[in-house]
Amino acid sequence: MKHFIHEDFLLETDVAKELYHQYAAPQPIIDYHCHLDPAYIANDHQFDNLGELWLESDHYKWRAMRANGINERYCTGKETSDWEKFEKWAETVPYTMRNPLYHWTHLELKTAFDVDELLNPESAKHIFDVCSEKLRKPEFSARGLMKHYNVEVICTTDDPIDSLEHHIALQKEGFEIKVLPTWRPDKAMAVENATEYRKYVEKLSEVSGVEINNFSDLIAALRNRHDFFSSVGCKLSDHGMEEPYAEDYTQSEIDAIFNKVYGGKSLSKEEIVKFKSIMLHEGAIMDWEKGWTQQIHYGVIRNNNTRLFNKVGADTGFDSMGDFTVAKNMRRFLDKLDINDKLTKTIIYNLNPQDNELIATMIGNFQDGSMAGKMQFGSGWWFLDQKTGMEAQLNSLSNLGLLSRFVGMLTDSRSFTSYQRHEYFRRILCNLIGNDVEKGLLPASEMEFIGKMVKDISYNNAKSFFNF
Ligand SMILES: [Zn+2]
Repeated sequence: MKHFIHEDFLLETDVAKELYHQYAAPQPIIDYHCHLDPAYIANDHQFDNLGELWLESDHYKWRAMRANGINERYCTGKETSDWEKFEKWAETVPYTMRNPLYHWTHLELKTAFDVDELLNPESAKHIFDVCSEKLRKPEFSARGLMKHYNVEVICTTDDPIDSLEHHIALQKEGFEIKVLPTWRPDKAMAVENATEYRKYVEKLSEVSGVEINNFSDLIAALRNRHDFFSSVGCKLSDHGMEEPYAEDYTQSEIDAIFNKVYGGKSLSKEEIVKFKSIMLHEGAIMDWEKGWTQQIHYGVIRNNNTRLFNKVGADTGFDSMGDFTVAKNMRRFLDKLDINDKLTKTIIYNLNPQDNELIATMIGNFQDGSMAGKMQFGSGWWFLDQKTGMEAQLNSLSNLGLLSRFVGMLTDSRSFTSYQRHEYFRRILCNLIGNDVEKGLLPASEMEFIGKMVKDISYNNAKSFFNF
């Protein structure tokens, strides 16, 4: 019997198989947005066991375990051992059928560890032992895994006050995989909590060496850090937000808002939105000046379970899709930059799939012929990072824009075995196109061009788009 993950997994037609094996699979990986801890790479972290690798911070798995009736101590518990957590995860895996976790889990077992067995309570101990033994070998270290997956470039996610010491150390050392920072100034915009914000601004002042007494000092300090990020090879910015901010404001309003929050007073809703609007706009101009790409991740509502948030904190699997009215503000944000010819390369990611067509048509308004694919509709993100979500994104982009110019997949992950998601994406992409060719919707006589298109979406487009 064929193993579950075999070489033609997800590839339903001969054309899909040809496209995947000949054009997609050999391409290196450019992971232009992830949340890996650069310290793990700089120190070449060696994982002790599969439980540590898989369950230390994976909120996707924790969510599935909770839904399967597993007690919280086996998810985020500090007293529970890696094996105990893994055992409960193995118990859950058969119940994840049709959830992407079922595919991801077995793809990781196969592609990282060459394990063909299905994970379940019976196989748990054996798989744990085999994989953990491998993980303790040098070729399965953090760097070893990156090399194993043929990774060429990764971009981590970093705060403006970060020292970037690990990125710098890796560059000095000449590590062959490019590990670049990404500018993520969410905290510089987080004026909801005046006390926390003051602390942040004080730290920003310290690391930038710019004394901050007013709003223009704040921008000067950020600009100083933006330059520093650029010197360490940063090519992208990223913003996480509920919805795009594009309110009108005057400079005197902004000065007053900054003085108010910096002075420890709470801001009104209107003031918060005005402040976020100018910060987003000013940051976008800095990105444009440097030729960076800005990324917008929007549409999430976070920490929705108060009881469990109080117990286990943020980013633990209690977030979900929001439903915001975004089109007008997104248009205002982009148009205000474009009208001054300061709109930089942009990727927009939505969390709610109801916005797929909205974004695919919105980016079309700002494709200005200056380069191919200047405005991008980002790959299926977070809850949409699964077969149906990816296909929906690829179809919306195909119907309303140019799929051939798409910069493709990213992992958005904290795990060193998540690179199989690029393979997952490439198989889904090749299958979609292969089906079109088989049905006569695309010409079989153009296989050379279609193969090039697959290669471009898998690798070449990202490589040239970001100037890596
Ligand atoms: Zn992310």
